[in-house]
Amino acid sequence: MKIFCIGRNYREHVAELHDGGTVPEEPLFFLKPDTALLRNNDPFYIPDFSNEIHYECELVVRIDRLARHVAPQFARRLYAEVGLGIDFTARDIQREAIAKGLPWERAKGFDYSAAVSPQFIPLAELGDIQQLHFTLEVNGEIRQRGFTGDMIFPVDELLSYISGYMTYRTGDLLFTGTPAGVGPVKRGDVLRAELEGREMLHFEIR
Ligand code: MG
Repeated sequence: MKIFCIGRNYREHVAELHDGGTVPEEPLFFLKPDTALLRNNDPFYIPDFSNEIHYECELVVRIDRLARHVAPQFARRLYAEVGLGIDFTARDIQREAIAKGLPWERAKGFDYSAAVSPQFIPLAELGDIQQLHFTLEVNGEIRQRGFTGDMIFPVDELLSYISGYMTYRTGDLLFTGTPAGVGPVKRGDVLRAELEGREMLHFEIR
C-alpha cells in the first residue's frame, strides 16, 4: 500500500511555516512508504537524526478500490471511511531540503512517521467530508483545530489530481494536509486527537 500526503492545504498553516513557500496553485503531494505506518496507538519514538520532530494532525481517507484517471465528480466513489493521522515531520531536515531544492523523503518518510487511528469511521455516520472538525491535544492542551471546509483543495479534487499520475490500490491512504498549530514533540508528551468529538488517537512520545 501507499501513503499519499498533501502539503500546504490550509492557508494558516502555509503562513506559519515561514519557509518562503506560498499557497500552491495545484496540489502538492508526496509519498511515505508502508514502513512509515504507526498503528494501534503505539508510542512514537523520537529518531536520533532530528532535533525537531513536529506533529501534523490530518484527516486521513482510506481508498477502497483500484482506480486511476478519476474525474473529480467520481472521486467520492473511491472511499467510504475516514480517520485521523499524524504526519510526523523532521522539520529541521525538511527546512534544509526545501532550501536546497532537494526531495523530502528523509524528513517525511522515515519509519513510523505516519501514525494512523485504529478505527476509521463511515462517512455515512459523519456526513459531508468537507464539513468535519478535528482537534489535536498535546498533554491535554488543544494545539490544532481543523475544519475540513478550510482545505485549499477539497478531498475529491486531491484524489482526482493524484490519480492522473499514480494508480490507487485498495488500502492506500491519503493524508489530506494539516491545519495551523504544528509544533515540536518531546519525550513524555501525550498526543490525543478527536474527529467530530470521537477519540481517534491517544498515544505517547518516547
Ligand atoms: Mg502534513
